[in-house]
Amino acid sequence: ETLNRMIARLQASLRALRRFTADASHELQTPLTVLRADVERAMHPTTPQADRFVALEEAIQEITRMADLVDSLLTLARADEGRFDLHRAPIHLEPIVRDVTETATILGEDAGLVVTLPLVEDAVVLGDAARLRQLFLNLVPNALQYTPRGGKVEMTLSHRNNNAVAFAVRDTGLGISAADLPYVFERFWRADRVRSRATERGGFGLGLAIAQWIVQAHGGTLSVQSRLGRGSVFTVLLPMLV
Ligand code: ADP
Repeated sequence: ETLNRMIARLQASLRALRRFTADASHELQTPLTVLRADVERAMHPTTPQADRFVALEEAIQEITRMADLVDSLLTLARADEGRFDLHRAPIHLEPIVRDVTETATILGEDAGLVVTLPLVEDAVVLGDAARLRQLFLNLVPNALQYTPRGGKVEMTLSHRNNNAVAFAVRDTGLGISAADLPYVFERFWRADRVRSRATERGGFGLGLAIAQWIVQAHGGTLSVQSRLGRGSVFTVLLPMLV
């Protein structure tokens, strides 16, 4: 029975590995195809000068997209191998949260959203400041992106039971259906692949997987509550030092 369980676990991780490789290759294929077409257009002797620049600009955008993808893949690969250098030190969360809010407010204005930070209770955690910033910056843009104009995005930092601190991002956006909810933290998962790709701004579906890894590496938890058409709340719980 022990052997069977071990084999089943091995089979499951092999399956996951195969799917991951297939998904990653597939995601790289699209920008590469676009990139090739752009460069060909720029090089074609009959292409007018102005169009060459347009093509090259688009090529740079695709390169940036691919670089982002490779960066995310590297992060996850290192995390899987357990050779990720987290530089943990006692850090205050309030300045990071205020900073992220500032960025979100600017992005929110462009997107016609109201961004607020009604509650901030500072806390010290033993953490990697750069990774925690990355974590918040993975959650907040999602809230902005999946909330239509006129909506609200609210962040809070609050103490829970004296030994934990919660960072929550609440939006009044599209929400996630109950059927989809179990998959949101899976790599490459997107609620609506067609929509994500068509809007170009859509990501690769790796942000939440990375966010979850960062939280777990800090001994915390990341959870989500959501209702389709109503909005979502993503909550990070971290052990508090002070
Ligand atoms: P992406 O780069 O596609 O946003 P994520 O891993 O960050 O990747 O998110 C995975 C998917 O979860 C998204 O494509 C989206 O369908 C869904 N999602 C994430 N955050 C939200 C949110 N705040 N509201 C609605 N859907 C969300």
